[in-house]
Amino acid sequence: MSTTDKPMRFAMGGIIHETNTYAAEVAGQTPLTSFEQYYGDEIPGIFAGSNHQVGGYIEGAQKHGAGLIHTFLGQATPSGTIEANAYAHMKQAILAGIEQALPVDGVLLALHGAGVADGIEDIEGDLAAAVRALVGPHVPIAVAYDLHGNMTEQMQRAVDISLPCILYPHTDFYDRGVECVDLMVKMIKGEVKPATHVCTLPMLPYIVATNEGFVPARVNALCAQLEALPGVIDCSWFHGFPYADIASPCPAVICTTNGDPALAVRCAEQVAQWIWDHREDFRPQFPSPEEGVAHALAASAGPVVINEYADNPGGGTPGDGTYLLRALLDAAPAPDTVCFASINDAEVVRQAIAVGVGGTLRVSLGGKLGRFQGAPIEAEAYVKAITDGRFVNRPGSMFEGVRFDLGAMCRLVINGVDIIVTSRAEQIYDMEPFALHGIDAGRRKIIALKGANHFRAGFQGLVQQIITVDSVGLSTANIASFPRDHLRSTLWPLHEGVVGALYKAAS
Ligand SMILES: [Zn+2]
Repeated sequence: MSTTDKPMRFAMGGIIHETNTYAAEVAGQTPLTSFEQYYGDEIPGIFAGSNHQVGGYIEGAQKHGAGLIHTFLGQATPSGTIEANAYAHMKQAILAGIEQALPVDGVLLALHGAGVADGIEDIEGDLAAAVRALVGPHVPIAVAYDLHGNMTEQMQRAVDISLPCILYPHTDFYDRGVECVDLMVKMIKGEVKPATHVCTLPMLPYIVATNEGFVPARVNALCAQLEALPGVIDCSWFHGFPYADIASPCPAVICTTNGDPALAVRCAEQVAQWIWDHREDFRPQFPSPEEGVAHALAASAGPVVINEYADNPGGGTPGDGTYLLRALLDAAPAPDTVCFASINDAEVVRQAIAVGVGGTLRVSLGGKLGRFQGAPIEAEAYVKAITDGRFVNRPGSMFEGVRFDLGAMCRLVINGVDIIVTSRAEQIYDMEPFALHGIDAGRRKIIALKGANHFRAGFQGLVQQIITVDSVGLSTANIASFPRDHLRSTLWPLHEGVVGALYKAAS
């Protein structure tokens, strides 16, 4: 432990991946080359000031006059199971960096919580345990997570301070990063002594936003109420990540108090009980793409956002699903009524580039990456625009100010519907991808997009209505439709009549 007379030094590293294990079956495992990989001193230049755990760590360290030794950060768009050697490489980069930095006063890890590598279904627990073994029992370890993590005992045992983000869309990564550092500093100074309790719930709901009107907003309100009690440091919850065939994917409530284990148990159990009692509110009821499109076309005013829940690249899907796009085309809307972003099809983008702007081509669009994606759209397409796929996310959106590079992109027009085609899968966060291709999306009746909830930050307030549609897909809200070879728990709503302990402590 440090004394207060010399500046503290923290080591920082991370691996961020939300693993949809079902995507591996159709799109393969995720190799190292799919990861953005940042080493040492290049990290602050990339992340300082951004809405990312590391942005918060940098700010927090600065605020407390602490030194931050950056080791390695690897992150990739959600996708299939991580290749074993890719995970091993990244883990080793972090461990070697920390070892070189020793002695340190604390370790800050930036993790997701739902990372699965080939042979290791809890990479966060595995990495945290290895870091713990390296630094010993007395150096605090703090982690800011994505709330879509599946909390495990291994994660909890190895880490002193675990803070999942609270908001979905995740507009508070930065804030949680800063909080992690604040708490770690207090811990080192002896001002707090974290006592943590985790309650996992025997349920596996689909993933739901925390915006007003959704049930997680009410869970958050209860957590905030308990957090106001004297002695409670943090009360929050992991929503769980259902698209992973692992032993126990489920939500978990985590409460951290200042040296009061009984209070931590009471608060965590109270929130877990509330979620359990309201589990029926987590049952999805979405229209089909056809129903959603008909409803949107009949709306008195636009724009209406229709989001395709079942093929959400933010949940690790290939992004080339055609269910919503087909429903839009089948509805034969008037020209300039509908714009859609985006469908992932690098081959079609290449064909469009070959034909050039102003040309027409016969396309077989999407539906190529596995049996969950629907059949390809066979059609005549007009090439309206081709771009480099580089843009900056707009103010107010979840990744405000963050640069994206989706590879070569094009705007095709098929039967009057404007379709943005990308060279890689990515969800849509705001109207910028449309603007990049000359579309004023705010003037369209229907803005159709792929995504579950993150888009809400960038669209809410700018549109009249949001209609979520669901279909077959690798991120369908119909969680019970996935095979579960590795599951070792009985979970609502996968199994009927889940009884016994409503929740169990992970500690
Ligand atoms: Zn998330």
